[in-house]
Amino acid sequence: MTLQDFYEQIKDCQRCALAASRTQVVFGDGNPHAQIMFVGEAPGFHEDRIGKPFVGAAGKLLDQLLGEIGIQRGDIYIANVIKCRPPQNRNPRPEEIESCKPYLLRQIELIHPKIICTLGNFSTQLLLGHKVGITKVRGQAFDRGSYVVVPMLHPAAALHRESMLEAVKEDFQNLRNILDQGGPSQASGTKTDQLSLF
Ligand code: URA
Repeated sequence: MTLQDFYEQIKDCQRCALAASRTQVVFGDGNPHAQIMFVGEAPGFHEDRIGKPFVGAAGKLLDQLLGEIGIQRGDIYIANVIKCRPPQNRNPRPEEIESCKPYLLRQIELIHPKIICTLGNFSTQLLLGHKVGITKVRGQAFDRGSYVVVPMLHPAAALHRESMLEAVKEDFQNLRNILDQGGPSQASGTKTDQLSLF
């Protein structure tokens, strides 16, 4: 099955109440064979209208942050924890996250990335499998077998509080260091085996 096949399967999803208020399922975007995948939180207003993740203000900042470490949007794949916009951009609810979780896991299986950058608390907690605050784990790398999770502050944090921008940039620089060193082991001090990237 390709990612496109999978999208066709789920594009009319009715698994949770968000189906009633969304414009469309926002599946994901980018290189279906990417070695690096980013996982955000949920579609916002613009994403819901356009049908692609990270196309609003947070997306513009994300593009800039990626560019600063030499990565283009087309090099990566990007998706969200939940595929439908919550009303008024409220936080995703536990039952929405649970309903949508198999979709993200299947995307990961199909893309088979080496690194998954989790942006913010929701994706970090989902993929690490426990309730941990992003500020505790950012800058580290967690070996999950077929991929490594690199938790990062969500770029939107810097839109809400400009003073966060330096910390957000630090996390992107950490990713750059991980890539430059061929894997997370030396950059983070974790016991992860060396990855060969690019
Ligand atoms: N846009 C998205 O698609 N996801 C986010 O987490 C934020 C903005």
